Amino acid sequence: MKIIEGKQNIISGYSSYLQDESKLSYGNVEYLAFPENDKDISEFLKFASSKNIPVTISNGKTGVVGGAVPLKGALISLEKLNKIFGIKNVDNEYRVHLQSGVVLSDLFAYSENESFASEKYFYPVDVTETTAHVGGTVSTNASGERSFKYGPTRNWVRALKVILSDGNILNIERNKIFAKNYIMDIKLPNGNIKTIDIPKYKMPSTKNAAGYYAKENMDLIDLFIGSEGTLAVITELELALIKKPKNVMSLLSFFNTEKDAFNFFFSAVKELKTAVVFEYFDNGAFELLTPKIAGLPKDRKFAIFFETEFTDNTINDITSNIEKLLNKNNSTMDDTWGGFAKKDMEKIREIRYKIPETINETIAKRKQKYPDIHKISADIAVPPDKFTEMISYYKSKLEPLKFQYTIFGHIGENHLHMNIIPNDHEEFIKAKELHLDFAKKAVSLGGTVSAEHGIGKIKHQYLEVMYGKNGIQEMIAIKKILDPKLILNRGDVFPEEYLK
Ligand SMILES: Cc1cc2nc3c(=O)[nH]c(=O)nc-3n(C[C@H](O)[C@H](O)[C@H](O)COP(=O)(O)OP(=O)(O)OC[C@H]3O[C@@H](n4cnc5c(N)ncnc54)[C@H](O)[C@@H]3O)c2cc1C
Repeated sequence: MKIIEGKQNIISGYSSYLQDESKLSYGNVEYLAFPENDKDISEFLKFASSKNIPVTISNGKTGVVGGAVPLKGALISLEKLNKIFGIKNVDNEYRVHLQSGVVLSDLFAYSENESFASEKYFYPVDVTETTAHVGGTVSTNASGERSFKYGPTRNWVRALKVILSDGNILNIERNKIFAKNYIMDIKLPNGNIKTIDIPKYKMPSTKNAAGYYAKENMDLIDLFIGSEGTLAVITELELALIKKPKNVMSLLSFFNTEKDAFNFFFSAVKELKTAVVFEYFDNGAFELLTPKIAGLPKDRKFAIFFETEFTDNTINDITSNIEKLLNKNNSTMDDTWGGFAKKDMEKIREIRYKIPETINETIAKRKQKYPDIHKISADIAVPPDKFTEMISYYKSKLEPLKFQYTIFGHIGENHLHMNIIPNDHEEFIKAKELHLDFAKKAVSLGGTVSAEHGIGKIKHQYLEVMYGKNGIQEMIAIKKILDPKLILNRGDVFPEEYLK
């Protein structure tokens, strides 16, 4: 296994491994390892455990909360674990068996292009950033635009191979090991049992990527999904595939006002039963996109991007229904882009992708003058009946301050990303205060402080808002059993003071 040793060697030759898309960076790393198999990882973890060296797990480095950014000690990059072993059929379900470092776009291409069945299959979790690696998406329980229909990554994980920090390897299949009355027994390869208490906090009903999954009689596999590398290294996975719908169209409809766009969504989500995606762009997103996308309307600055399945028999009914809903909300098919040709669909997805990309570029420029600022990005979701209350709350606080901000994203799951792009240090401080305030509001409405990005190193305080000190201690009690030396992903999910 290739291991780069020495802080200076790593900083000078491998600095890209010291950052993720949060742009956090510490750089105090003495070892950078590139394992090629389970044995490499197991041995490296045993070595690190014996010397109490903290180990951070790095995969696609597209995370936005600093999870893969090492504070100190060692970093293991899983990029060489990039094999797709093949497809198997279990109980009439096709599953792809692969390593953790496979790039998501390679998984998409493989599952759609391999011929293993007479019909086309696909992996449905379309995380916007397709350079993420599958192990990263499982560790953060990532979602995509189509999660409106297909749910988050968790729903598609059928088996995991994980390596604990003492080097023990566990093969975990879904539906095999369950907790009983909040107690879970985990059998190690040598026959010893580790017993953990499942936390008793109540998870929100929304989609959620904050903290450990916890339910009275939960499946063991769900503990590792979304645990952000704090419990084990995931090395292999089995992910379920499903039949690819034959026909899908992507549409981007433009509206005059936020109210029209929301009302269109509220009706469409009820009436358009074939829909698979609902995304929202506000006028702040338009402001960012206008210099990049030719021909965006000048007067209609709110949009809903949606995708729907159709067949030859249903297309006429579906399009006339859409037209009716658009007209009711002061828009028309003429104010709509898209279609079902691959290039039309890709164009719309490209526009969607450009929103976070442009935010990141804008903040990167501002950072040149104010290095300590970063974007303030809320990943909040609330129950459907609280959606408008949450949006009104954001706006009531943001509008008077005249900050540059945008609210966009997964409206289908009541999960809009509120992003503030501070102009200077003063705005940054105020924006951080607002984020905490928004997190409190979301939790009071029964929502989550992170629906898909996770907690990482930058959202600890919001997790505490959600589950309280007690909830965090319950999670740490699990970590202490599975990672007794507390070496894995230090600084992620839990603040340092809790681990002392
Ligand atoms: C432009 C853009 C768009 C994005 N869109 C989305 C989106 O639509 N939906 C969404 O959910 N996220 C999105 N993200 C965030 C990011 O892509 C996801 O969080 C993704 O799941 C991270 O995968 P990764 O391989 O890059 O993980 P990394 O960033 O390398 O790691 C993420 C976390 O997982 C841990 N980890 C990684 N691999 C393993 C492993 N094998 N075992 C144990 N722990 C591990 C790391 O230590 C870290 O804590 C977006 C990011 C960007 C920049």
